[in-house]
Amino acid sequence: EPVKPTHFIRQIIRRDQESGKNDGRVATRFPPEPNGYLHVGHAKSICLNFSMAEEFNGTCNLRFDDTNPERESQEYIDAIKADVNWLGFEWNEEIRFASDYFDALYQFAIELIKRDKAYVDESSAEEIRTMRGSLTEPGTESTYRNRPVQDSLQQFERMREGAFADGSAVLRAKIDMASPNINMRDPVLYRVRRAHHHQTGDKWCIYPMYDYTHCLSDALESITHSLCTLEFEDHRPLYDWILNQLDVPCHPQQIEFARLNLNYTVTSKRKLKQLVDEQHVSGWDDPRMPTIAGMRRRGYTPASIRNFCEMIGVTKSEGVVDMSMLEFSIRDDLDKRAPRAMCVINPLKVVIENWKHSDDLTLTLPAHPKDETLGSRELYFGSEIYIDRSDFEEVPPKGFKRLIPGGEVRLRGSYVMRCDEVIKDEQGEVIELRCSIDDQTLGKNPEGRKVKGVIHWVSATRSLPVEIRLYDRLFNHESPDSSKAGTSFLDHINCDSLTIVAQAYAEPSLANAVAGEAYQFEREGYFVKDADSTPEKLVFNRTVTLRDTWAK
Ligand code: ATP
Ligand code: MG
Ligand code: MG
Repeated sequence: EPVKPTHFIRQIIRRDQESGKNDGRVATRFPPEPNGYLHVGHAKSICLNFSMAEEFNGTCNLRFDDTNPERESQEYIDAIKADVNWLGFEWNEEIRFASDYFDALYQFAIELIKRDKAYVDESSAEEIRTMRGSLTEPGTESTYRNRPVQDSLQQFERMREGAFADGSAVLRAKIDMASPNINMRDPVLYRVRRAHHHQTGDKWCIYPMYDYTHCLSDALESITHSLCTLEFEDHRPLYDWILNQLDVPCHPQQIEFARLNLNYTVTSKRKLKQLVDEQHVSGWDDPRMPTIAGMRRRGYTPASIRNFCEMIGVTKSEGVVDMSMLEFSIRDDLDKRAPRAMCVINPLKVVIENWKHSDDLTLTLPAHPKDETLGSRELYFGSEIYIDRSDFEEVPPKGFKRLIPGGEVRLRGSYVMRCDEVIKDEQGEVIELRCSIDDQTLGKNPEGRKVKGVIHWVSATRSLPVEIRLYDRLFNHESPDSSKAGTSFLDHINCDSLTIVAQAYAEPSLANAVAGEAYQFEREGYFVKDADSTPEKLVFNRTVTLRDTWAK
């Protein structure tokens, strides 16, 4: 049993449950804003929230935090639902929307005004920004701060009725303009915005702010542990302040954890959206994207992402996780269960000159070396095959164990083959090999000599032409985000992150490949059929290379 990584939230929840806090009830939520597709950072939050609920016999809600209607859409809502399900999680009851609570939030706002804890401010956005002060300067109070409660009540109603132009009035909490925490300097709770909302249509022309909405949504859903990333630590006093002013069914505990940062990529929806909008990638599900949809298309499995999230732990210290951890996790998952297949990516034709049979020979090989339950597959051996160009060297470097002129190599699952002749074109490039097989070596070692190298191959006449897409990192900078001033993360895009091999040759069993099911192409890596495949032309994505290649 490996050592469990640090996970301080598990410890807090266990302690709370054991002490009988909230009657031992555990309720979490995952609260995405539907303004983009989910990325691997969100996966950390999803795994955390849903797995804590599972582990402590609790519930986890899926709630769309939809307070910025202009940036949100049904497409994103649908994609987020699909991604959460695909990761293997089911939310408690119906999906929630913060917008479900707009009426309740409006009533709570009236309550705050009545208790003299909020006021309508008709200053401009610019004036309000200036009044907030800075880290070194206290804020200054607005002239509207002490207007009568009745006056604010009336103006707030007029805000809702549409009497104010966008940006000409806000509702602010009345807290403390001298607070060292800027979030507590009379933060805005509501603003006027004439925007069509994907859930509530044109019902509202005022929308609540995130901080106001979030704590109250949590309370209305009786969430016990509200888990969020560290940048909200400074917002916690506001979270608690709002709940303390009002009569709410419960007061959830906000706990902050370090966000996931991965090297060689970006995990910010805004930046990912820019990559999509400016067509640096083919879409949100481009296999190079760190989105869940991209990773799924690339061939990542739900288990590999869940294991990765468990492996990195949950702490309060920010760090950068190495991409290789993610790759380790997918290899570990696929090695156990990916059927094996052969595919020659850089084909070199080989004519077997001593092939005496008129028919091809049918070979039956296991789909997986260690798991018989995965069954077997059929391959055909005949007078012409393809091997990979890189497995032949006319002038071999030291230690080269594969095919050389006059040398022998084993063809995986079939014969030992000797290279008798090298055919070249006018430019001197090798275009074909003439070889012979030792027909005593099918499934056994040759007599009197050792053959070390083993290479993969396919029949030239009975293989499938396929397209292969090989991926590299999308960025060639370890932290594209934090580059020097005056540069953009876009400056670090790796122009060679996609290599398309238009014509590779795969063994015939791959004609039945199912999208989303991984194969290990022997010696080349793990591959998955891409959605761009047609019956005429299969397309495979390389998910990840193999850590160890056999008999290289
Ligand atoms: P982004 O910064 O990419 O726009 P966000 O935090 O604005 O992301 P939300 O949709 O608001 O995106 O996030 C939903 C939940 O996922 C939040 O609780 C948020 O804290 C969490 N989350 C977002 N990014 C990460 C990350 N990199 N690591 C861990 N949790 C994250
Ligand atoms: Mg957000
Ligand atoms: Mg954010």
